[in-house]
Order: sequence, then structure tokens, then C-alpha cells
Amino acid sequence: MSPTINNQSPKYYIDGVLQNDIAILSRAITLVESTNETHKLVAKQILEGVLSKTGNSFRLGITGVPGVGKSTFIESFGKIVVEKGHKLAVLAVDPSSNKSKGSILGDKTRMEELSAMQNVYIRPSPSSGSLGGIAKATYETTLLCEAAGFDFIIVETVGVGQSEVAVSKITDFFLLLMLAGAGDELQGIKRGIMEMADSIVITKADGKNLEKAKAAKMEFAQAMHYLQLPESGFVPKVEVCSAIENKGIKEIYDLIINYKAYTIANDYFDKKRKDQQFELLLGAIDDRLKAVFYDDKKIRKILSEIKSNQNNKNLLPFGLGIDLVNEFLFRNSG
Ligand code: GDP
Repeated sequence: MSPTINNQSPKYYIDGVLQNDIAILSRAITLVESTNETHKLVAKQILEGVLSKTGNSFRLGITGVPGVGKSTFIESFGKIVVEKGHKLAVLAVDPSSNKSKGSILGDKTRMEELSAMQNVYIRPSPSSGSLGGIAKATYETTLLCEAAGFDFIIVETVGVGQSEVAVSKITDFFLLLMLAGAGDELQGIKRGIMEMADSIVITKADGKNLEKAKAAKMEFAQAMHYLQLPESGFVPKVEVCSAIENKGIKEIYDLIINYKAYTIANDYFDKKRKDQQFELLLGAIDDRLKAVFYDDKKIRKILSEIKSNQNNKNLLPFGLGIDLVNEFLFRNSG
């Protein structure tokens, strides 16, 4: 018998998602986010049921520190996307939302105009915080949105912790928003994030900030120059924009569309998606293996004894680790 949620079968969700029923889509997303075992089972069946209708969107990741102007940018950029005839879904990955009320989507004024537009769906995605958890929930939400007919997906994340790594692993293009500082832009920027970025945008290039933004653009462009050319073959660009004055936004849309055409032409677009899928698969295997191992009663007992034993000053961690895994495997090999 197939599992049901609120007396609704997986088929109910599959049909609803494919018919672009937003209420059902939202509930299906709640199921893929859930850690409840029954929910997980239903979610898997829903995903299997819609899989053939997925993959047809452009997936854009956007990151940047709180206050850099992400939601203002997406509001302005999203309007262009919709004007170009796309159906747009915005998924906001928010690792802070579980812990505090200071969630990036807590403020209801975010993307007010965009959210009122036709063909736009905005969905906050409270995440479990782990790389695997964020990647799974966001990737599967992307698939559901695609099945519902959204062909442009923006995944927004705050530049904190693991979430940006997760988002870069599930999107086609990763855009880093940066603020122009007081001449020392490059300090404090994690090099790793710059390496992940397919392009950088300096925000708030207006008023008194315009000159600073232009100077920052030069500095970033030079810094990017020293990074290795990405596998895509596409040289990352540095742009400036003002979301409030609507300046430079269209150029960023064009840049992203150029990237898409370039990477489709050189076959990188499909290769990247395949590589991402494979990496997600390996991540899922890692997570599952670890969960099974650490949930094992005997292993938990042994580890807790080792931890509390004060006399264990000289244990051999590497050898013992292998012994414990072997013990677990032999015991469960039937
Ligand atoms: P987020 O936390 O990254 O989503 O940033 P927000 O979009 O909420 O913007 C943070 C603050 O910067 C808000 O007060 C915005 O009004 C302001 N801001 C955003 N974009 C611009 C811009 O293009 N120019 C100026 N001057 N301010 C902006």
C-alpha cells in the first residue's frame, strides 16, 4: 500500500504539482523538507512521479552577506526575468531561520512587488544547517518547481556557513554580491567563495557610493584574474549595479544568459549538471552510511565509553576507527 499524508496519495501531489497548483506545490515542498520517515517516503514517490518533467530551468544561485542587497537585487532582477517571459521561482535558503527569529525572510517587506507578480513563486526554505540537509531540501525543491513549470529558479542564500557551498553545488551559475568597502575590499573575503563564483556584482553603485563601487570593480577584476580559469571556460566578470535605481541589472541578466549559451555550446552545461548529480549521490551515500553507523546502539555505547574514559590518553584514533567500522560491518553482514 502506498503511504498517504492527510489522506492524500503521492498521485494527488504529483498531479497537483504538474498542474501548477501552487498550494499543492507548497505542501509537496514541505514534504521534501521533512525529516519524518513517512513524509520522506511520500516525498520520494512524488519526486519519482515528476522526474521526467524536471531539469528544464536555469538555476541561478545568489549569495552575499546580510545587508549586501540580495532581496532588493532579486526584486529588480526578478522583474526582468518575468518580463522576458519566464516563470520564476525564488527559493531562499536560510540557515538562521531555525535558530532565531532574525530570519532573512522574517521581514515581510522583502520582494513585495515581485511576490505579487504573476508567474512568480517565492519560498523560504528553512534548512537543517548541514551541507547535506540544505543541498537535499533545496535540490528537491528545485525539481518540484521545475515540474510545476517554473523555468527560472533563483536560489538565494546568506553568505554564512555551509549554505553557500550547498547552493553552489546545485545551481548552474553562482553569483556573488559584494559591497564596496573603503579600499580594502579584498580583506576578509573568503577566497573559496570567490573561486566558486561565476561572476561578482558590486551592489549599491549609486549616489556617494558610485565611485567606490567602480574602484571596487577594478580591484575585484584584478583579483579574479589571478584565480584559475574555471572549468566552464567562462571568464568570471565583475559588474556594478544599483537595484534601487535599476541600473546595471539588465546587463547582469544578459551576462547570465550569455553564460548559459556559452556553456551549452561547449557542452559544459550538461556536464556540470551530471557532475553535480553524481556528487549529490556520493554525499547522500556518505550521509546515510554515517547515520546508520552512529545510530547503532553498540557503537554509540563504545564511543561514549571511550569519550568518558580518562585513561585513554594514548589510544590510536586511526586504527581504532577502522576496527570499529569493521566490527559494525561484520556484526551486520548477516
Ligand atoms: P539582503 O540582506 O542582502 O537581502 O539586503 P537587502 O536587499 O535587504 O538590502 C539591505 C539594505 O540595503 C536595505 O536598506 C536596502 O534598501 C539597501 N539597498 C539595497 N540595494 C540597494 C541599492 O542598490 N542602492 C542603495 N543605495 N541601497 C540599497
